[in-house]
Amino acid sequence: MFALYDTLTREVKPLAMREKGKLGIYLCGPTVYGPPHLGHGRATIVYDVLRRYLEWRGIEVRLVSNITDIDDRIIERANREGRPWQDITHKCESVWFDAMGRLGVQQPTDIPHATEYVQQMVEMIGTLVERGVAYATSDGVYLSVESVPDYGALAHQSLDEMLAGGGDREVLGAGEKRHPADFALWKFSKPGEPSWPSPWGGGRPGWHSECVVMSLELLGEGFDLHCGGADLRFPHHENERAQSVALGRSFARHWMHNGFVVDAEGEKMSKSLGNVTNLLDLLDHYDARAYRMLLLQTHYRSPVKVGQDNIDASVKALAGLDAFAARSATLNGKADAETLARFVELMDNDLDTPNAMAHIFDTVRQANTAIDSGDAAAAGLVAAVHEMCGAVGLTLGAIVAVDDDAKVKAAALDAARAAKDFAKADALRNELQSAGWIVETTKAGTALRRA
Ligand SMILES: [Zn+2]
Repeated sequence: MFALYDTLTREVKPLAMREKGKLGIYLCGPTVYGPPHLGHGRATIVYDVLRRYLEWRGIEVRLVSNITDIDDRIIERANREGRPWQDITHKCESVWFDAMGRLGVQQPTDIPHATEYVQQMVEMIGTLVERGVAYATSDGVYLSVESVPDYGALAHQSLDEMLAGGGDREVLGAGEKRHPADFALWKFSKPGEPSWPSPWGGGRPGWHSECVVMSLELLGEGFDLHCGGADLRFPHHENERAQSVALGRSFARHWMHNGFVVDAEGEKMSKSLGNVTNLLDLLDHYDARAYRMLLLQTHYRSPVKVGQDNIDASVKALAGLDAFAARSATLNGKADAETLARFVELMDNDLDTPNAMAHIFDTVRQANTAIDSGDAAAAGLVAAVHEMCGAVGLTLGAIVAVDDDAKVKAAALDAARAAKDFAKADALRNELQSAGWIVETTKAGTALRRA
């Protein structure tokens, strides 16, 4: 039985599915106004691992992940750059899915766009106003959090405790709010801003209203699992949940949140990983599997520090697995049942990927010993390694010989980097990438491999 930590009840408990063998997941997707950062990469990989593993277990997974394509930050950037806002959202969305493809993240089964559901959002807000739990001010429509009896359940904080934190500081018209923690369901637009009609005045939906409408619309009441990064737990998820409570509709049965990427932005991060500041940089500089490997070796609820040392270690671990795959390529057999059973036991315990990965490496060692001694058990262990890696989305590649031209360029790249001639180093890296190489920076220098 697959068990998962539930953020709401704070216990590891079986993931009870509304419909046997079918799992409906809602994952909060990106607000498309800039390039994806390492935290986005982590969230998508964590839930990709969850999805792949459960599909491997025979469960039919429906993963709904939205695109927030209307937001203050999109409008700000459009105004700043003098571009239509749709130009920004379309471009950023294609960059997003390109990056996720490179990370080996499967496309969600459903990708609702917030702007496609504005009508339903207006209807939902209308119901909340009718029920007397939402009210209009001069700048929008707000939900009264005092009308939600268990507001703060996900944050594990009472309304009084939250008040000490200042409530929602970002909204305008704070003086007209009945309670500082009341949040905007609808924001009136200023002249020239994108605007949709509503009974209270033209405007756009608040972020928290988008997800509650899209998740209930596509997955229905009492859907199985709501996911996202730990930073979304409060206020975003709390406020989504508050609206469903205020509507009298049952919401997600289980809540899952992944930990932060430490030093993902800013000074420390750029120092620790050269010029890697966002996900695209990481993908340009390292084998995309390295980030997945690093995250698999970290529990999804723990924070992860992305630095040169652990990226190097991941690259090295992958090289070991690739070498094993190349060495055992001719062996065919049925995956060893006992080995797989242990893997399932570990993964079923709150997605314990660090121990599951340790088990995979143990199996590789056993298989190597069996190959060395000509033991017939080798083929079953090799097949088990491929099965387990596949279940967490790791593809093992065979080693490819590096040609002389690439070797010369790799050496020149190391020399340029040592001389701090980064322009030359980048040019050489581009040449190698154009020739189809994945260029990795390791402590021992540049390493080349094929995708
Ligand atoms: Zn959301």
